[in-house]
Amino acid sequence: MNSCLILGGGINGLLCALLLRRAGLEVRVLDRGPVGRESSWAGAGILSLLLPWNYGPEVNALARRGRLLWPGWAEDLLNTSGIDPEFRPCGMAVLSPENHDAALAWCVAQGEAVTALPRTLAHLEGADAIWLPNVAQARNPRLLQALLKAALSAGVKIQENTAGTRLLPRGTKLVGVETASGVVHADSVLVTAGAWSGELLAPLGHAPEIAPIRGQIVLFKAAPGLLPGVVYRRGHYLVPRTDGHILAGSTLEEAGFDKTTTPQAREELLDFAYGLLPQLRQAEIVTQWAGLRPGSPGNVPTIDRHPDLENLFVNSGQFRYGVTMAPAAGEVLLHRMLGAVGVVDVAPYAWRHKPAAGNGSP
Ligand SMILES: Cc1cc2nc3c(=O)[nH]c(=O)nc-3n(C[C@H](O)[C@H](O)[C@H](O)COP(=O)(O)OP(=O)(O)OC[C@H]3O[C@@H](n4cnc5c(N)ncnc54)[C@H](O)[C@@H]3O)c2cc1C
Repeated sequence: MNSCLILGGGINGLLCALLLRRAGLEVRVLDRGPVGRESSWAGAGILSLLLPWNYGPEVNALARRGRLLWPGWAEDLLNTSGIDPEFRPCGMAVLSPENHDAALAWCVAQGEAVTALPRTLAHLEGADAIWLPNVAQARNPRLLQALLKAALSAGVKIQENTAGTRLLPRGTKLVGVETASGVVHADSVLVTAGAWSGELLAPLGHAPEIAPIRGQIVLFKAAPGLLPGVVYRRGHYLVPRTDGHILAGSTLEEAGFDKTTTPQAREELLDFAYGLLPQLRQAEIVTQWAGLRPGSPGNVPTIDRHPDLENLFVNSGQFRYGVTMAPAAGEVLLHRMLGAVGVVDVAPYAWRHKPAAGNGSP
């Protein structure tokens, strides 16, 4: 396999492009819009599961490996692109967890560092809060810009505003991808189209269950240092950037492919933010945005070769944690595509068959 065509230039597409290019392949990324402007741009940049004790081992394995790899990636991207993705360990407070004792026990058993809230956050709430000091964050737009620049300087070809409209199979191979400007050919094709991956693959008959789940965020500008770390309480969170911006997120909505922001979400997020940190009432509300997560059952992505087409691959469905998992998902993909040695067991991310109607019944 000498060349790879990647459909979708979000965090998963760009990171895999860089990995495959560094492994010696000719790599081209097509994106139907500008690259790095969908879910990967819209995310909050928390590099952790929100309540890791609520997820199964397959979700935790990718998140844990991703967290381990992120410091190296952040340094690599800063050095190769000159753009600082603002990776920094900042810690995360979980206020009033429903299952405090079980959560603590899980952290101890899994080796996740955990302490009481630091003094700088002690005014917030509750003696039963959990502080995870090793949680880090990155600033998504900068991270994506750094990845794009690193990929370009490694020799990855990027073609924006070009959607892959149809995958063209013949026998056991994909022979091309249809676009508005003609059919594109490559030895292998990787689908990293985020929330759109399911619909792009559907005509081939084995589409993984990936569907859009909208998330909205409100951005404040406050004084730098108002909040030292991420704070999570009952479904919502605040994420402080070093320059004083604070993100209040996020909603989880089934709204199809509609990225409109809504007054209801704004109200929900403002209620949460003001309730948690009343000083935010004095802060400027800069903007509100929405993104479409690639939702998948159990938050388990599909990272595998197509069951019938030997040169078609997918890496998608990371749902709420695509940024956290991206370096680990890239390793799994490299294992599947090139046989590269990985650390994570790849079996849980196998292409789950969704047989076409009428197939397979006796
Ligand atoms: C509000 C919100 C908060 C979040 N917070 C966090 C967080 O704190 N931490 C975390 O780890 N994750 C978070 N996430 C989730 C994370 O952002 C996603 O899981 C991740 O960005 C998915 O990346 P992706 O590359 O798979 O998809 P995307 O970033 O959506 O990229 C897919 C790309 O494919 C392109 N595309 C689509 N169809 C086609 C086609 N037919 N042909 C060519 N290109 C196509 C799109 O234009 C897009 O650029 C959050 C998401 C949202 C919305």
